Amino acid sequence: MGKVMSMRCPVCEEKNTGRVGCRQYYCWNCLIEFRITDSSETKLYYVEADGSLIEVEKNEVKELQL
Ligand SMILES: [Zn+2]
Repeated sequence: MGKVMSMRCPVCEEKNTGRVGCRQYYCWNCLIEFRITDSSETKLYYVEADGSLIEVEKNEVKELQL
């Protein structure tokens, strides 16, 4: 109880993630942020060099990593 569990990244499915906010996490493998919405959807965000977030789809994340 009260133990912080690592979230599994929805893209690479690794647990190499860190919490960055309320229901918001960062994957160190994919270098993306993801957020769990109230309706339990997962939103993915690409973080730009200036720190702004761009919402991306799962298949787009794969393309960004090429
Ligand atoms: Zn990942």
